[in-house]
Amino acid sequence: MEVLGIDIGGSGIKGATVDTTTGDLTAKRHKIATPVESSPENVASVVRQIADHFAWTGPIGCTFPAVVQQGVVYTAANVDPRWIGARGQDLMQEATGSPVILLNDADAAGIAEMTFGVGQGRSGTVLMLTFGTGIGSSIFIDGHLFPNTELGHLLIRGKDAEHRASSRVRDEKNLSWKRWARHVNEYLAYVESLLWPDLIIFGGGISRDHKEFFHLLKTRAELKPAEFFNEAGIVGAAMAAAAGRAPE
Ligand code: BGC
Repeated sequence: MEVLGIDIGGSGIKGATVDTTTGDLTAKRHKIATPVESSPENVASVVRQIADHFAWTGPIGCTFPAVVQQGVVYTAANVDPRWIGARGQDLMQEATGSPVILLNDADAAGIAEMTFGVGQGRSGTVLMLTFGTGIGSSIFIDGHLFPNTELGHLLIRGKDAEHRASSRVRDEKNLSWKRWARHVNEYLAYVESLLWPDLIIFGGGISRDHKEFFHLLKTRAELKPAEFFNEAGIVGAAMAAAAGRAPE
């Protein structure tokens, strides 16, 4: 089945059509910068522009960088606070005229990795972490997703983990790989002490550079870089829409 996957991030909104039986993109990705004022209306209008770019009328899977339950957005760590309580899924449906499934971005990335990527066929507890503007998380227990886990907001020495170890922090503070890895290790150790995962999948755009820093990371669990660097959200969102429902 072909589905349009859209990934809404803090800096860009990207979309592509996806063959949900293989996880391959069937067209070149289209990206538009996230509006500086990332209000629900402005973001919905970019989503419409992306659907228009592909002249799309079928189902759409769309990620959002926040807690999403039954199509409603409940948090807004890195987007306009007007999203809190917004009926995001309805809004996207009205903007595009297509059926839309809205889900958390890290949950979507995890679905892509578990179906077609490095988590394929893995049982036990698999933890996917995405390092980008924030830190996103998704947990799979014997392949079943436990949605909206929000582990990027665990407190490390009194401060939100994503304010210490996201890839945005590395960029903004111009940290060396070694210094950034120290923050990431502190975070990974804390998460491991709580969840004891069997496998940790390290994702987000920065996982493309894993050769630069993987040797600096220490975990008890097996640690693997994601296979989909920037496209996990698009592919996972398309998978959720093909299934016809957001993860529960
Ligand atoms: C949000 C999560 C999101 C993550 C990655 C966090 O700030 O609270 O919902 O998955 O960033 O975008």
